[in-house]
Amino acid sequence: MRFRSTRGSQQRLGFSEALWRGLAEDGGLYVPETWPLFSVSDFDGAESLAEVGERLLAPFVEGDPLATQIGAIVREAFNFSAPLRQVRGTADDEILTALELSNGPTAAFKDFGARFLAACFQRIRKPDAAPVNILVATSGDTGGAVAAAFHGRSGMAVTVLFPKGLVSPTQQHQLTCWGDNVRAFAVRGTFDECQRLVKEAFGDAALRQHQQLSSANSINLGRLLPQAVYYAATSLAWYRKRDRPLSFIIPSGNLGNAVACLWARQLGLPIGHVVLAHNANRTVPDFLSQGEWLPRASIATLASAMDVGNPSNMERMRDLFPDHVRLCDVVSAISVEDSAIRHRIREDRARFGEVWCPHTAVAAEVWATMSAERRRAEAWCLVSTASPAKFPEVVEPLIEGRVSVPETLARLFDRPSVFEEIDASLEMLKVGLKSR
Ligand SMILES: *Cc1c(COP(=O)(O)O)cnc(C)c1O
Repeated sequence: MRFRSTRGSQQRLGFSEALWRGLAEDGGLYVPETWPLFSVSDFDGAESLAEVGERLLAPFVEGDPLATQIGAIVREAFNFSAPLRQVRGTADDEILTALELSNGPTAAFKDFGARFLAACFQRIRKPDAAPVNILVATSGDTGGAVAAAFHGRSGMAVTVLFPKGLVSPTQQHQLTCWGDNVRAFAVRGTFDECQRLVKEAFGDAALRQHQQLSSANSINLGRLLPQAVYYAATSLAWYRKRDRPLSFIIPSGNLGNAVACLWARQLGLPIGHVVLAHNANRTVPDFLSQGEWLPRASIATLASAMDVGNPSNMERMRDLFPDHVRLCDVVSAISVEDSAIRHRIREDRARFGEVWCPHTAVAAEVWATMSAERRRAEAWCLVSTASPAKFPEVVEPLIEGRVSVPETLARLFDRPSVFEEIDASLEMLKVGLKSR
């Protein structure tokens, strides 16, 4: 399999090379050149994420140096589960399930992509090559997932840049508790300035001579493609039991999770409709209803990991569905205000006994406000993107109680927090990077 850019350059790359580069040279995003078509029986005997993942991803690594290692990679990356459970207490003729994606080391779905990418990078890297430094700017969940995935791996280091004072105390701890080959810098500036610093570092020839830099941001194919695996495994398990497709409501920001679901659907997996649940950043819902793409500055909401005003993966979605009418047959999008997020967290705690994280609550609100007819027409699945224990500052006052902390997170809270503070200047970042 070769990969091409969404922007139409003639370049074609293999899997490993597309992962290593991240972004195509014409500024586009890598997508598969062709779509293999699977049938449900192709997965007979495959049940776990790793078993389904090995078969699903095999065509994508065909001809690549990683082809013989894909089984080992998925077994290493997907060493925790993604259970589907029934949400109890709905009306008799409605099916509502929740797909739990928060069982990984940092309790959010980004662990799947980050762990897969780390497992690939470790194997792509030549053992005698210079150490690689993965630079990530983060406004919340990404930095923690990437740090956790690369922590303790030889020959690779991670540098996390986060805006000082602009991430929650819980998030900050997850960015700064690693040590060893992971360093965290609190930048005196905004998230956008952290991103600018990363870009400048990549453009700095002197720095790049001193160390090999790489990125692990969410547009990397190696973070997106593995996310198709949990949609494949979940829809297969559902289809085998119920003989019908499953439709997903996905809390969305940069659309990486949603595109992974649409890719699984394109590959022939039994997936029905895909509903994009956005917070007050309404670029995507407006595009679907009006047909015009008008990116704008992001606004801060309670579901902060979805505060994206110009979602980069829209480029992949439009590449998959160049025809707007076809896109709207399969995909719909709804925007939810903060007041509705608060209401939904309180109400579903009382009604279903479910405690949602603020992101998952956006999806729950979308389901709750659908017409009864639409709720009955399909088997729905809420994609639960993070544990509420990551956002106690938001959730606990609403449910007037404590959220229980998963053991994986509790272990992180036990580690000491260590970080260095720098100005938002490349010079200071360079001094910091060279100091070790
Ligand atoms: C990143 C994130 C999202 C948004 O996912 P995208 O792939 O950017 O659409 C939703 N919920 C949580 C908890 C996240 O961390």
